[in-house]
Amino acid sequence: MCNERGESEPAAALGLPTLTAVTAKHLIEIRWHARAGQGAVTAAKIVAQTAMREGKYAQAFPEYGPERSGAPLKAYNRISEEPIRTHAQVRIPDIVIVSDPTLLRSEDIFAGVKADTVFLINSPRPAYKLALDIRSGPHPLYAVDATKIAFAEIGRHFPNMAMLGALVAATAIVGIDQLLLQVAENLGDKASFDAVQANLRAVRRGFHEAASAVANPADAPASHEAPAQPGWREMLPGSAIADAGNASDYVTGGWRTLRPRLNERCNDCLLCWFFCPDSAVVLNEGKVTGFDLNHCKGCGICAQVCPPRLKAIDMVPEGGDEERSS
Ligand code: SF4
Ligand code: SF4
Repeated sequence: MCNERGESEPAAALGLPTLTAVTAKHLIEIRWHARAGQGAVTAAKIVAQTAMREGKYAQAFPEYGPERSGAPLKAYNRISEEPIRTHAQVRIPDIVIVSDPTLLRSEDIFAGVKADTVFLINSPRPAYKLALDIRSGPHPLYAVDATKIAFAEIGRHFPNMAMLGALVAATAIVGIDQLLLQVAENLGDKASFDAVQANLRAVRRGFHEAASAVANPADAPASHEAPAQPGWREMLPGSAIADAGNASDYVTGGWRTLRPRLNERCNDCLLCWFFCPDSAVVLNEGKVTGFDLNHCKGCGICAQVCPPRLKAIDMVPEGGDEERSS
């Protein structure tokens, strides 16, 4: 449900229970869906540190899949006014954060959610359109184009600074001033003054640019039940590698958040083909014709080794052009 003009509106205008419902609870649990290398684990840590700065109790911990840039991962936060006794993964989140829009295609972001779970999604789509597209039903949903903000302010694909600002705008789970202080403190030792300022600008823009909407409740997905977890006796044996040299049988391009795009300046020096760790640069009769997107991980090595005077490879956001224009 958006307003009569089909636009997103602030949660308060829609009468949503977001801010008071989320902040009044004793224990708030957050699940982050992200990709390795985008700063989600750091962002979860900053949320916990900011909460502790405010005198609360907090946890932040990741759940990694494959140890590789771009691989899907989850991270969790717990924040409470009282000591937190549980240390397990978050199964029934109060807040779900999706910091890469490509994860909407592969991750079950609705797993275990409750009727009042708040969604915060990095997406170039307007919140009301996104809510309809993913059928988020009655859940308060916030959208922010954190990828665009990251490129504009930081110059790299680190959307989670903007997501932090949007998280505070959506839930007031910590104060924005305290959050900015914590970000500056965390980055201060490692980054230059300019880099710290760029990250702070990204946080502020996320805070101001997050927009909310609620889809028609009738559009809710069929089930929000937490998935049943098999016991160890029911689990199938895994990690069995039947054949050698079978990497090409597995489509791993879904980890990618940036994709290489070849431009007309290429002079076929083949440096990119030589250095690509996934043999994903496609040649035809000794000339580069494109990239094998089933196996390219978007690491950007090809763009880095391409001679600077040519810069024949641009790294562009995955799903970007089509998704961003729709
Ligand atoms: S981004 Fe370039 S170097 Fe990296 S896997 Fe893709 S084609 Fe290979
Ligand atoms: S490194 Fe650059 S110029 Fe050389 S083949 Fe690859 S894209 Fe073309």
